[in-house]
Amino acid sequence: MEFGIIKKVLFPLLFGSIVSCNHQQYPVVVQTKVIHDTLIVRLPPVPVVPPSTTSSLDSLLYDVHTTGTPNFNLRKPNFVVIHHTAQDSCAQTFYTFSLERTRVSAHYVIGRDGRQYHLLNDYLRAWHAGVSKWGHVTDINSCSIGIELDNNGKEPFSGAQINSLLLLLDTLKKTYNIPSSNFIGHADIAPRRKDDPSIYFPWKLLSEKGFGLWQDSIPPSINVDSNFNALEALRIIGYNTSDSTAAIIAFKRHFMKDESSKTLNEWDRKTLFNLYKKYL
Ligand SMILES: [Zn+2]
Repeated sequence: MEFGIIKKVLFPLLFGSIVSCNHQQYPVVVQTKVIHDTLIVRLPPVPVVPPSTTSSLDSLLYDVHTTGTPNFNLRKPNFVVIHHTAQDSCAQTFYTFSLERTRVSAHYVIGRDGRQYHLLNDYLRAWHAGVSKWGHVTDINSCSIGIELDNNGKEPFSGAQINSLLLLLDTLKKTYNIPSSNFIGHADIAPRRKDDPSIYFPWKLLSEKGFGLWQDSIPPSINVDSNFNALEALRIIGYNTSDSTAAIIAFKRHFMKDESSKTLNEWDRKTLFNLYKKYL
């Protein structure tokens, strides 16, 4: 019965999205469907076994019977991770994503002209985050949407691209009820490995639209508690502080637009002190 539900509910949902992508010049669209077909077929049908009436409670612990339930739906994303492609064109990115050996993908790519490309259905698990951690979440791919912005990492993002991103984020936030704090960057969740999106990315503007949190404007006279622990504050925000320098660099890139140092100055500490309380 469950497999029948999967066929009835999942197939139209998935293929509706993939087929609606009108970039048929990329054979990978067909390849995506084939891989999906293969994965779905591999799902074992759930056996319907009547609950045992003879086993004791103790024995049930060692003899698992699956009885099935009609009460389920698809898992949905709860984070959005923003990237820059570090490539010079969408075509380069699509080529990279079309090669199985690269083991990388994303749900969306947004071009410099603002055009949106939907590569994978939002409910599928794209491979965009890699080894990463945010708070206690260690499998970001399983619970997130990955958005790649066509940008080489050394240039500002175009207004058309950011406007398009904001429209997409608005849809995703409403569709999946994603909290504002869960709009983050790749470098935030993988500070030792990644630096995207770059320092040019307008996180403050995004926060004003409800995507990501931002510090309040801070009067210079504000004092930081003498017992304030900056690393603890970074950890509370979500950063993996096992490499404290990497976490500080990621924080400063995102919230201070500063890549000039690896340490927190007094103004950084004031900003962090103001910001982390929003995550409590
Ligand atoms: Zn990335």
